[in-house]
Amino acid sequence: MHPLRSLILAAAGNDVIRRLVATAPVSRDVVRRFVAGETTADALAVTRRLVDQGLTVTLDYLGEDTTDKALAEQTVQAYLDLLDGLRREGLAKHAEVSVKLSAVGQALDERLAVENAGRICTRAEQTGTTVTLDMEDHSTTDSTLRVLADLRTTWPWVGAVLQAYLHRTELDSARLATDGSRVRLCKGAYAEPPEVAFADPHQVDLSYVRCANILLRGDGFPMFATHDPRLVEILDTRAEALGRKPGAFEFQMLYGIRPEEQLRLAGRGHTVRVYVPYGVQWYGYLMRRLAERPANTAFFLRALLSRK
Ligand SMILES: Cc1cc2nc3c(=O)[nH]c(=O)nc-3n(C[C@H](O)[C@H](O)[C@H](O)COP(=O)(O)OP(=O)(O)OC[C@H]3O[C@@H](n4cnc5c(N)ncnc54)[C@H](O)[C@@H]3O)c2cc1C
Repeated sequence: MHPLRSLILAAAGNDVIRRLVATAPVSRDVVRRFVAGETTADALAVTRRLVDQGLTVTLDYLGEDTTDKALAEQTVQAYLDLLDGLRREGLAKHAEVSVKLSAVGQALDERLAVENAGRICTRAEQTGTTVTLDMEDHSTTDSTLRVLADLRTTWPWVGAVLQAYLHRTELDSARLATDGSRVRLCKGAYAEPPEVAFADPHQVDLSYVRCANILLRGDGFPMFATHDPRLVEILDTRAEALGRKPGAFEFQMLYGIRPEEQLRLAGRGHTVRVYVPYGVQWYGYLMRRLAERPANTAFFLRALLSRK
């Protein structure tokens, strides 16, 4: 892993730095580039803007690693409120939600996470939309896939996420490439040990392509989450070669990252889903985005120092 990336990910877990950054008068523009805002209304406004541009959306209420039942409940309520908003505003056809199980109680008790995620699925079904379970660090992969299987017995449309950097992901791709199975493939965003994950970025890319081929050949619905221009080109070519027309898979990118590319792909007839995070707990998310790209860190630090 790039030393700067490790440093930023370590800083993300440091309480002193966390307090410093979270309370610094950071330019709203910097945070706003990657985060829709702190409220449901902010999230709905950004969703409306993206949908009007021909994009689709998945919304993430920020927060993770909850070891407090009350906080898990707060997260569930935020999602229910959001889903009601999507229905009210007529956005449910174009926008779904992404949920981190650790934010709804996974670390406390897997059953609690199933129950809470199930409440969100029930409301999503009433709203006419879907839910995707984000994937977190490797210590949670088995548990998350168990919860997924459990939820899918009632809501077969619940989406999964697989991370190409994990050695196990080719096997998981084959297991999940079944009829109706929505699977988001990403590179993976956590600092993982070499026993479980490829450390070399080139190996991660190769794994991504191997997993993508499995998903494209399978019977599920692949969702390719990457900003990598080379991968996007390869995926486009492989999909065409394997007879997957635009609409039989989708591209996904993060809010604020390569927005022109998002519009270009949509303009070519592809479904492009933008992952839109919102909520007061934006710090950890922002740090992971900065760790991915030194240029973003410079951008952020400049804004931090200018104290706009
Ligand atoms: C929709 C979506 C959902 C995700 N869900 C999860 C999840 O559930 N679990 C998980 O672990 N990870 C998730 N991720 C994060 C993912 O794992 C990667 O960490 C992240 O997408 C960066 O990888 P990349 O494929 O874009 O390629 P990278 O190798 O990071 O980047 C390749 C190229 O993309 C461009 N690029 C990448 N990042 C930026 C940026 N910040 N600004 C400008 N250009 C950039 C640059 O040209 C760069 O050279 C998700 C990502 C997306 C897009």
